[in-house]
Amino acid sequence: MSEIRFLADSMLGTLAKWLRILGYDTLYSPELTDLEAVRLARCEGRVLLTRDTGLLRRKGFRALFIQSEVLEEQLAQVLREFGLRSDNSFSRCPVCNAVLEDVPKSEAWGQVPPFVFQTQESFRLCPECNRFYWRGTHWQKMRAQLEKLGKMKG
Ligand SMILES: [Zn+2]
Repeated sequence: MSEIRFLADSMLGTLAKWLRILGYDTLYSPELTDLEAVRLARCEGRVLLTRDTGLLRRKGFRALFIQSEVLEEQLAQVLREFGLRSDNSFSRCPVCNAVLEDVPKSEAWGQVPPFVFQTQESFRLCPECNRFYWRGTHWQKMRAQLEKLGKMKG
């Protein structure tokens, strides 16, 4: 598990979601003011990911200017910049950033669509927002996208 933690600015919600999918602790609070974001990055030792050059002029915290508007390039830049790998993927809730917990199949009963319950064996639960996750088609699509990204890096 990597120690690096991120704070994504209001323009980078999709990047934040993907960093969470990769297992990285990433806050995304579009309602924060610039000052609040800087304060949070300082307090919690988070790297601020931003497309706002104004924020980069402030001191006392680590920041990375995200160059591209294209998600794949943004992700590739962050991974490259910090030498990260995507080997802890699908451990964190993409919606609220909490670490997912493995739960017995019986707990998913009535909480996921019947077809999913019948066809999946392992489930994970977000302790914060109570969403269930499983390795269905959505997971497979994300996996494929990650693999594409891996090739792009290589
Ligand atoms: Zn959640």
